Amino acid sequence: MQIIRNPKKLSEILKKYRSKGKAIGLVPTMGALHEGHLSLLRQARRENNIVVASIFVNPTQFGPGEDFSRYPRPAAKDISCCRKGGVNFIFYPSVKDMYPQGFSTFVTVEGLSSVLCGEHRPGHFRGVATVVAKLFNIVQPDSAYFGQKDAQQAIIIKRMVADLNIPVKVRVMPTIRDKEGLALSSRNVYLSLAQRHDALVLSGALKLARHLFKSGVKDSAKIIGSMKKMIKGKKSAKIDYVAIVDLNNLKPIKKISDNCLITLAVRIGKTRLIDNTIIA
Ligand code: AMP
Repeated sequence: MQIIRNPKKLSEILKKYRSKGKAIGLVPTMGALHEGHLSLLRQARRENNIVVASIFVNPTQFGPGEDFSRYPRPAAKDISCCRKGGVNFIFYPSVKDMYPQGFSTFVTVEGLSSVLCGEHRPGHFRGVATVVAKLFNIVQPDSAYFGQKDAQQAIIIKRMVADLNIPVKVRVMPTIRDKEGLALSSRNVYLSLAQRHDALVLSGALKLARHLFKSGVKDSAKIIGSMKKMIKGKKSAKIDYVAIVDLNNLKPIKKISDNCLITLAVRIGKTRLIDNTIIA
């Protein structure tokens, strides 16, 4: 496994593999790797000859007052996790490598980026789409791997790839959870023991929604109402949004049917957590 910081150097190395017909898989991450990331690495390992993991805490996707400077950066642990996942190359650029002086081009996926998390984190998905487009150009992977946990992100990346004719297959893998149901997230380390317990309300509310749906409730407003009531029962929880939307265009839907996404963002103390489930 090699660690490469310079974008040009990585592109040059990968060019050789590409010319020999090797399939390249890319797993973009911000580090602080956990079993969720590992599942993406392992899938990439299964489907490609060469696996590239990028580790880059991308400043352009953080808003003012968000946790960019305190985001966890456990380099040694991340490197050993990549080794465990069968990574061939870790792309570990600096902010200057990715955004040199004079940088002024951004990718905006309109519409999809301004709802749900985009409404609460203006500019977030512009930063995400821009850095992912850059990673796609640097690595030129055959396939790139994303987690269902960040459902809106995956939908936006798919849209960008289709709209800009980027020749990358986007693979979206299931959310990995702990034993109690909490979706793994690099931000879970911010939670105290009591908050971690309260955070179970996210997956709890999604379970409740699925249960209501299965028992015949199709009215989104009713389901959202029950979910909100459950979440508000936790002292440390503040709802950013609870929504039921069309999986293709993220527009709210009134009556649940196929292809809908039940999604939520909740602050537990100062930590903002997201989770979702798909009704297929
Ligand atoms: P991040 O480092 O948080 O930017 O995440 C990098 C990738 O890992 C994204 O595609 C995430 O959706 C994915 N990911 C994060 N948490 C999980 C999880 N619990 N299960 C599956 N994928 C995840």
